[in-house]
Amino acid sequence: MAWLSSGRTNAELVDRMASNGLITSTKVAAAMKLVDRKHYVPALGAAYDDSPQRIGFNATISAPHMHAHACENLLAFIEAADAGGGAILDVGSGSGYLTAVLHRLAPRATVIGIDHISGLTDLSRANLAKDGVALGGEEGIDIVLGDGRAGWPPNGTLRTHGGGETATTDAAAPYTAIHVGAAAPTIPEPLVAQLASPGRMFIPVGEGQQDIWQVDKDAHGAVTRKKLFGVMYVPLTDRDAQWKEQG
Ligand code: SAH
Repeated sequence: MAWLSSGRTNAELVDRMASNGLITSTKVAAAMKLVDRKHYVPALGAAYDDSPQRIGFNATISAPHMHAHACENLLAFIEAADAGGGAILDVGSGSGYLTAVLHRLAPRATVIGIDHISGLTDLSRANLAKDGVALGGEEGIDIVLGDGRAGWPPNGTLRTHGGGETATTDAAAPYTAIHVGAAAPTIPEPLVAQLASPGRMFIPVGEGQQDIWQVDKDAHGAVTRKKLFGVMYVPLTDRDAQWKEQG
């Protein structure tokens, strides 16, 4: 099913996913058409395949239909963040592709992508630049370096950054929507703590058998967790377990 949706252009890929029932929201389709996947993959020949692809550093860009599922699951919350000037966190932002789609869906929100490998935050910043997306607090989208298991800012404590390699953004918890792009052994509590009331997190969980979990926090702060479907993601892990950085 997934492979059938591959296209010759970005628009054709999105249209085929829609006609195969892998995208049902016209808003998600429109946002995915605004983010040309060719800017986010290393092998141009596979840019419009509905499959995950390696991006280096033991990471992959997820398959487009998984990105579509994530956006559709979070859509009401993404729209609430947009309408209310709220914030959205993309943990394990990798290529930066989904961070860009979230920004297109919620241009008035603050969207933050976080990854723990500096080679990947560099790569995603370069990818976003190729795609014509300017970064920084005033742009409503930024990429930061850090351990996403602690959320952003770490432990939910707002802090000021001195610049450098880490961040230009002092946002932004709590988050109306949190997307996690790597599988955690268990749901990280700091991420639940950084969910807004109301808010929703979409997160793959498990070692070996992995499933997407939907974690909802209601207007009163009550949290419910629901298992949705089986998946295969790279692990949400320690930086050194994934990749040994030089220097
Ligand atoms: N949504 C991304 C998925 C990239 S793969 C995309 O489609 O491009 C998963 C990503 O999670 C990798 O980039 C990996 O570096 C990152 N990751 C794994 N553990 C992490 C952690 N503890 N903190 C932040 N990022 C992490």
